[in-house]
Amino acid sequence: MGIDLGTTNSLVAWCDESGPRVLHGVGGDDGSALVPSVVRFSEDGSTVEAVGAEARAHSVEFPSRTVTSAKRLMGRSARDAAADLAFLPYTVVEGEHETARFAIGDRLVSPQEVSARVLGALRERASAALGRPVRKAVVTVPAYFDDAQRQATRDAGRLAGLEVVRIINEPTAASLAYGVGARAKDEETIAVFDLGGGTFDVSILTVTPSGDGLGADCFEVRSTAGDTRLGGDDVDHAIVSMILREAGEEFGMDLSTDGALPPATRQALKLFAESTKIRLSDEESALLRVDLGEGRVFERTLTRGEFEGLIGPWVERAMSRCADALRDAGLSAGEIGRVVMVGGSTRIPLVRERVRQFFGVEPYVALDPDTVVALGAAAQGAVLAGYDKGTLLLDVLPLSLGVETMGGGFAKLIVRNQTTPARAVETFTTSVDGQARIAINVLQGEREMAADCRKLGEFTLSVPPMPAGMPRLEVEFLVDANGVLNVSAVEQRSGKRAAIQVAPTHGLSREEVDRLERESFEHARDDMTRHRIADLIVNGRLDIKWTRLAIERVGEGIEGAYRAEIEAAIGKLESLVDRAAQDWSGVDADAISAARDALNQTSVRLHEVSIARSLREDGAGSGEH
Ligand code: AMP
Repeated sequence: MGIDLGTTNSLVAWCDESGPRVLHGVGGDDGSALVPSVVRFSEDGSTVEAVGAEARAHSVEFPSRTVTSAKRLMGRSARDAAADLAFLPYTVVEGEHETARFAIGDRLVSPQEVSARVLGALRERASAALGRPVRKAVVTVPAYFDDAQRQATRDAGRLAGLEVVRIINEPTAASLAYGVGARAKDEETIAVFDLGGGTFDVSILTVTPSGDGLGADCFEVRSTAGDTRLGGDDVDHAIVSMILREAGEEFGMDLSTDGALPPATRQALKLFAESTKIRLSDEESALLRVDLGEGRVFERTLTRGEFEGLIGPWVERAMSRCADALRDAGLSAGEIGRVVMVGGSTRIPLVRERVRQFFGVEPYVALDPDTVVALGAAAQGAVLAGYDKGTLLLDVLPLSLGVETMGGGFAKLIVRNQTTPARAVETFTTSVDGQARIAINVLQGEREMAADCRKLGEFTLSVPPMPAGMPRLEVEFLVDANGVLNVSAVEQRSGKRAAIQVAPTHGLSREEVDRLERESFEHARDDMTRHRIADLIVNGRLDIKWTRLAIERVGEGIEGAYRAEIEAAIGKLESLVDRAAQDWSGVDADAISAARDALNQTSVRLHEVSIARSLREDGAGSGEH
């Protein structure tokens, strides 16, 4: 197992031939992977009543015996940790050898014991989920942890019945998850930017090729900097303050003082602020609507721009810590080759933008920022266990990459076995009028239909509505030397652009790639037919649409017999297309193709008349001006 033992939440990942993956369902009934690092003891402190989500859910009821944030006290004396203690609701005292202890009931509980309870729960739940006992783990710690803190973490593992095979730094784990170092040929300096809910850490690491191809022991921490009171929570508070200030002005009352609102309303406001923040990571604006009771309803729109104005100073605090880390490492921003992003708050576009400007490189955001540390720990575990020998770390792409087209086909932009780095560009358009959002579905695989391929990611491009066929959508695929894929799309008439970065395409086992290749051969004929039928459906429907439009435009200008002939051709094509859309098996693609040809031939004269008419209309129109 790889374990990300966090201050607020912990996470387990494991690794097999097809690479590391997070273990879901350990967090609770909802299938969540996150286990809150929270433990509730009995009143006298002798036994444990709950660990994880259960313990957190009732922490308000049992504040004096529910322990949170034990990680802040690991291996430290109560005196050293004094600054952190002010925020904790329970009592901390100095124990033996000047180490902090939680005073619970009659007992003094060590932070190691609390962490051991969390690790023990993770071990049990992971063993149950995997159906076999898990005994060994790689556990991550912050880069700034000293020897005593690392030793305390190791002890916690032992208490939990786990052999901690290795303790690795969180930033190193995050880099490993991206495969950084796995193929390092030259020394490289990277930054890991970790902005979570409550804390911020930035680390500068040097990766040196180890020569043995494992790339695991060669991450050297050059410097770290951070702020234990900087995180997404601050943003939530800023939004709450803004709402209270503005609502206070609107309703002529002071809402910002404690007691002006019941605690439940405050708590609800904070959750609401967080969801607004999260929405603004994807959308340009969010509607705020807060019912403050007694008929007071506050409503306003918060745009991304206003939001960015609000959090600007907060982002700058993180950036100034980056400057500190660089200074301590004796480096300039330009010497950083990559920036790996960790922590939920790195999803905020402004954060990404500032990191990009500051370091002058595109930050790595392909993996889920909440799980990269656990994934990297599992990857390291696999190396230590000797599992990942079969993992494919090729300089060529093992599978083709492309996008889904109208009708569900798969258009390959970069075909398999191409060497990396690789680049490809292709232009697409729409087949529906007035489409304002174009979804781009990025896929990997060898099959012909999107549904049979592996989905890597999806993004949408908002464009001004235009008639079908008008937008010129240029899609670019760029795979860098690490197998990280950047996809960008530009609608050239409007200049609108959007981009996405997706997970490295390596990490598949040789068997998996072989299987996918074999399947593509086995299904080749069927797949081709299906792809052809899917395209025929889309194009057939477009033919029908254009023809009907032309009939409408020409109106009474065509004689009844000719009109009936066209309607018959439409009817024939339409029934074939509708039938194919319901179930493609047994459909004769040639028949649909023939019906399209027939309709197009029959309607040539109609289209001529229609075009002539629209030209006349245009001419008449311009004559008036
Ligand atoms: P972590 O400590 O890494 O789990 O990060 C949790 C923080 O990330 C919380 O403050 C969340 O509100 C924040 N967060 C999670 N998803 C998003 C998102 N899409 N946009 C902005 N913040 C987010």
